[in-house]
Amino acid sequence: MNKKLNVVTVPNPLLHQKSAKVKKFDKSLKDLALAMVEIMKANNGVGLSAVQVGKLIKLTVVEYIPQNMDEESKKALKAHRPFPLTFLVNPKITKFSKTTHIGDEGCLSLPEVEVPVKRAVEINVLAQDLEGNRIKIRARDYHARILQHEIDHLNGILITDKIKNN
Ligand SMILES: [Zn+2]
Repeated sequence: MNKKLNVVTVPNPLLHQKSAKVKKFDKSLKDLALAMVEIMKANNGVGLSAVQVGKLIKLTVVEYIPQNMDEESKKALKAHRPFPLTFLVNPKITKFSKTTHIGDEGCLSLPEVEVPVKRAVEINVLAQDLEGNRIKIRARDYHARILQHEIDHLNGILITDKIKNN
């Protein structure tokens, strides 16, 4: 297990770089993914991308299970529906709903920052799992928002880059 991983924060230039496509679905990918889950949970996050631990590869984990959060996060997120732990390798959004919603977002790479971001309410995502199998996800509301946020990370885009586009 990779114990030396820390969350990368601004102004680290890695955060504005594009991550590379994953081609090898090996043990090191799984080890990284599991280490990311630990970091995400330790920080009460609901999503984390590999670039945020300094690895420029297209790997994202998301999970929102209220029971796993601290009291403050539970309260802040209580309006949202839970979504299960999912590993997304090489994710791509194949469809955005025309309907959008503006909501406040934070980011583990931008401590203390919370900004309103416009997102599609519903999206379809094509990705691979840690074995390389194709997966399709249809997400809406908060789940869709978090996936759009994480997939932005893989393209070097932060929430502070989005606000001017609202
Ligand atoms: Zn983020």
